[in-house]
Amino acid sequence: MSGLKKEISIYIHIPFCVRKCLYCDFNSFAGKEEYFEAYKNALVSEINAFDKAEGYIVKTIFLGGGTPSVMPSKFTGEILKAVLGKFKTDPNAELSMEVNPKTVDFDKLKEYRDYGVNRLSVGVQSFSERLLKILGRIHDRRDFFECFELIQRAGFKNVNFDLMFALPSQSIDEWEETVKTAVSLRPSHLSVYSLIIEEGTPFFNMFEKGELMEVSDEDDREMYYRAKEILRENGFFQYEISNFSKKGFECRHNIVYWKRKEYIGFGLGACSFLDNERSRNNLSLSDYIGGNWFGERDEFTERDAFAEFMFLGLRMTEGILRKDFYDYFGVDMEALFGKEIKKLSERGLLLDDGERISLTERGIDLSNVVFREFL
Ligand code: SF4
Repeated sequence: MSGLKKEISIYIHIPFCVRKCLYCDFNSFAGKEEYFEAYKNALVSEINAFDKAEGYIVKTIFLGGGTPSVMPSKFTGEILKAVLGKFKTDPNAELSMEVNPKTVDFDKLKEYRDYGVNRLSVGVQSFSERLLKILGRIHDRRDFFECFELIQRAGFKNVNFDLMFALPSQSIDEWEETVKTAVSLRPSHLSVYSLIIEEGTPFFNMFEKGELMEVSDEDDREMYYRAKEILRENGFFQYEISNFSKKGFECRHNIVYWKRKEYIGFGLGACSFLDNERSRNNLSLSDYIGGNWFGERDEFTERDAFAEFMFLGLRMTEGILRKDFYDYFGVDMEALFGKEIKKLSERGLLLDDGERISLTERGIDLSNVVFREFL
């Protein structure tokens, strides 16, 4: 709490992309440029209509997508102006924005800085030309290097690269080259995710037809371990299963999700967690633009909330303090999950020092097994 105001985070969703990547099942559309302005207007109206802003102080803002940088920068400026005009914002707030290397130039980046954006998250995914093509990304290796130079010239100091491993036919050496190249550029933060083939994506159909070569589970794990090793050797600190940073550059916005703190989502399909209620905005672009912003409220029980606190908190390497669980719910973690914690500790999946529980290395590899125990 800051004064009498409650701390809050804000997520803003921009659902547009130049082209759909072949593995993507995110809430985004390609080829909808004619809707940019109407969408921006709807977003600004939704922000302005939020009637409880007085009670909050904003600690982090995250513009995600989609590809937020695909829109004209003046629209980004109008959206951020609406948020900053509506809500009291901490002068040290983290203001992140996702960018695609092919969608920014120097002027755009300078404008983002002027609007207050102080952290960029760049969708790099790979430094292999071959793999970028397989993924259907719109940028190539050269686009990225040109973009990164502009990012530096524009004065951004806090920059994340998103990288993906276990890509079809990717070798361990190719992945190692990508991680080493990333590290050599000295970003402040790296997110490394294993590709998941989601149903309904072109990749899914290609795999079904045997057109793409899947990476084995063993190689998937080996790639993860190699990344961890290279990142550790280069001064990156792992603070979450997939996230590594230089000290002090952890993504404060994402930590809000993992610690089950409150946030407001604005935009198409954006999720909010407010006053112990989860809700999701409308997923239909035409409805949203028409001013029908809100979607459904998620029903969850108290037991769901306990479980969620456990599996979100355990994603972080620091794990969960029993005291924090008690402070959050007023209930003893041991009384609820003592049996599960004991079982998982005996299986070598959890570390339990009496005060804090956290995932072991093996627990990270089998995190789904661990999380299921709490459900
Ligand atoms: S840029 Fe991101 S959101 Fe857009 S299609 Fe590719 S993966 Fe999906």
